[in-house]
Amino acid sequence: MLDLNHYEQLISARLQELDTRMHDVDHELGEPKSADMNDQSIDLEDDEVLEGLGMAAQKEIGLLNLAMERIKDGSYGICKKCEEPISEARLNAVLYAPLCKRCATRA
Ligand SMILES: [Zn+2]
Repeated sequence: MLDLNHYEQLISARLQELDTRMHDVDHELGEPKSADMNDQSIDLEDDEVLEGLGMAAQKEIGLLNLAMERIKDGSYGICKKCEEPISEARLNAVLYAPLCKRCATRA
């Protein structure tokens, strides 16, 4: 039997971490641009990287929130496809994994 409390704690800690990171990215993106043309192009590249990070974080936050809902309704750790339990090793690696390893690799 999966220790849902344990995973709930891990997920909320991860959400907290991502939330902090999102704020950092917002802060960086809000920095005024340098007047120098060369610096400007470097800044733009940086922003694209940061936006990429922000998007990845946003996506993960969404997946983690879904995992939180599954913890609440009791379906967390159960593969959505084959309804077999997902291994704890996999959940530890991917907290929000909705599929077991077999189904995820088959998809
Ligand atoms: Zn499965």
